[in-house]
Amino acid sequence: MTAFASFKKEISSPRNIFITTHVKPDADALGSSLGLANYLIKKGHKVTVVTPTDYPYFLTWMKGNDDVIDFSVQKNHPKVKKALKEADIVFCLDFSVLSRVNELGEMIRESDTFIVNIDHHQEPEDFADYRLWSTEAAATCELVYEMIVKLGDKKLIDKEIAECLYAGIMTDTGGFKHPNTTSNVHHVVADLIKIGADNTKVANLIYDSNSVNRLKFIGFAISHRLVVREDLHLAYFVISKKDLQKYHHKTGDSEGLVNYALSLDGVKMAALFSEREDGVKISFRSTADVAVNKFAAAYWNGGGHKNAAGGRSHLSLKATIERFEDLVEEKEEVLFGTKVLEENL
Ligand code: 5GP
Ligand code: MN
Repeated sequence: MTAFASFKKEISSPRNIFITTHVKPDADALGSSLGLANYLIKKGHKVTVVTPTDYPYFLTWMKGNDDVIDFSVQKNHPKVKKALKEADIVFCLDFSVLSRVNELGEMIRESDTFIVNIDHHQEPEDFADYRLWSTEAAATCELVYEMIVKLGDKKLIDKEIAECLYAGIMTDTGGFKHPNTTSNVHHVVADLIKIGADNTKVANLIYDSNSVNRLKFIGFAISHRLVVREDLHLAYFVISKKDLQKYHHKTGDSEGLVNYALSLDGVKMAALFSEREDGVKISFRSTADVAVNKFAAAYWNGGGHKNAAGGRSHLSLKATIERFEDLVEEKEEVLFGTKVLEENL
């Protein structure tokens, strides 16, 4: 039996299913989780969706949102542990290493359940019994759509499922702008729209639901916290804990900020350094030819995609910036130039 055939058999009768995704889920993480959950519920499965942390308010419109369990809330622990213990299948969506789900990662590793990993990040860890993985895919939502079609269940995709999946593809392609926007992406979203996804509504819910605080925070960051190093083709934001407090920063408020730095003419690499309780959270973005995931993995305990990656620093904010500038200066030729990145970082 092929791996896909045994996976298909595994979900052919009603099961207890546990779905999880990475910390601070974005639209692809939550959209793939809830798109898959709504589909599996229609197939007669019992489904529990657990996120390791909270997620942005502009994603809470997705069907099934109210039943999502946030594992970072202590009182949810017994419920999550019970669901994981009872699960026949665990789906791990939109992440390739178990450390991306915090403590849930070790719990999943230790469980003897059938684990399915659906993902499009580089260098996956070997933790799944069945892996539906492709770095060619722009989004995990694209892979979930293809999986449902391959299972022969396209007719089960309804408007709500289509909108969850559309959201992830729209955001992971940067609104169909990034180099990962393949013709397949357009075929898939054409299907989703045909099925009933209201593309304008989804775009409005995600991109045009700013709070006044968020807009003021973005304005402040651009006016006062942007550093441009034209000599290094670099632009980055440095946001302190105090800044976040001043603007009553909520999960999701910094989403997209780093793109303003990358939008500058001549900039090849952009970053956002944000001081949090547990260290400095870092987002990297780059132009097509610069691989920030390698940089994030080599120096910042992180990873991601070639042109969009992230990581973390446990140095102070000031020391983190110093290290960052030193590294970029030192590796400039490798990062932006002719030398092969993998060999020289
Ligand atoms: P963002 O900057 O939007 O938080 O993340 C950009 C991309 O990098 C996403 O695909 C995300 O999954 C990945 N990423 C962000 N932070 C980390 C990290 O700490 N580790 C890894 N492996 N990937 C990350
Ligand atoms: Mn994704």
